[in-house]
Amino acid sequence: MSRKVSTTTAITPDLTDAERVRILAKSALFNPPPAQLPDGRRDLVGLTREELAVELAVIGEKPFRAKQLWHWIYHQGATEFSKMSSIARPLQERLAERFVVGRPSIATEQTSKDETRKWLFRFRDGQEAETVYIPDRREDRGAVCISSQVGCTLSCRFCHTGTQRLVRNLGAAEIVGQFMAARDAYDEWPSPRGDVPRLLSTIVLMGMGEPLYNYENVARAMRIAMDGEGIGLSRRRITLSTSGVVPMMDRCGAELGVNLAVSLHAVRDDLRDEIVPLNRKYPIAELIAACRRYPGASNARRITFEYIMLRGVNDSEADARELVRLIAGIPAKVNLIPFNPWPGSDYRPSGRDALERFAAIVQDAGFASPIRMPRGQDILAACGQLRTESRRTRPAA
Ligand code: SF4
Repeated sequence: MSRKVSTTTAITPDLTDAERVRILAKSALFNPPPAQLPDGRRDLVGLTREELAVELAVIGEKPFRAKQLWHWIYHQGATEFSKMSSIARPLQERLAERFVVGRPSIATEQTSKDETRKWLFRFRDGQEAETVYIPDRREDRGAVCISSQVGCTLSCRFCHTGTQRLVRNLGAAEIVGQFMAARDAYDEWPSPRGDVPRLLSTIVLMGMGEPLYNYENVARAMRIAMDGEGIGLSRRRITLSTSGVVPMMDRCGAELGVNLAVSLHAVRDDLRDEIVPLNRKYPIAELIAACRRYPGASNARRITFEYIMLRGVNDSEADARELVRLIAGIPAKVNLIPFNPWPGSDYRPSGRDALERFAAIVQDAGFASPIRMPRGQDILAACGQLRTESRRTRPAA
């Protein structure tokens, strides 16, 4: 059902609540299989602290053990109970009989000539998703771009992942597990404290899938990543990118308060309906209104608008002026992304002139508008290029 509005007023709370319930119910149909191995052992990654304490209580262990295990799993990065030296040997053995500390397995791994690294991770049921590490060229740090779903329900026209049907949601363990496995690869355990430089310094939820269509698992995974006694990333170091699932943006802002990136890509509804079909449900005016009320947005924490530059489609000076009008007053920056072609795509990247003219108009209006250099193009790791061969074997109920 399309609900176009012509003003920037918020949609009514009742409607938003009902919509949220509908989104969460639909999302639950695509939930991952239980985190249990065929031999009955349970994966401890992905449990909340409280759930961890319950698992330990079942085997007669006191709550302080949960704190101890949390430290080993998320601060030290230990995957074997036998390495947890503050736990006595008999208990290590009992834990190993009942539990595992899991990681996704690496199906393939590629490194680009610009040092971007891409993993194809395989999960226990054989489904796969891609994760990309993008080093910052100027500093010893970088972002881990992680996936939230295998495939995607949305079919953004510029995006390779959008050609792959949604197979299932990733569970919290699989989401935070991508970051943990990347940390293994860069030997960055234990978790650095405070401002100690680290290579894997931020998480961007910009990989495969729409994170706000898998909100519960994403939220649980991000709470684990933000826990100060574990991985300890601050909310400022996490950016969630959405195509504009308006009702869930409010909830994400209120509950997680992470940075928000919005895949805008067009400034007129008729064009955005085509490029980002979710726009038919949540049109531009609703999306921009949700950005205006996103909690915590300030000049220090700007909302990022992602804008993929498609030659002759959305890259005119008039588009740039309309963009500036739309986001006026929002603490924002605009990332201009040259389109990264993939096999079968029917768009072409904008020319350098168009990119620079567009950037200048946005910049003159007071918004930073960096032109993002494509990264990892030679290994199909750049923005919008991720895709796996995973297929849904049975339709969701
Ligand atoms: S851009 Fe994101 S939401 Fe759109 S199809 Fe690609 S993965 Fe899905």
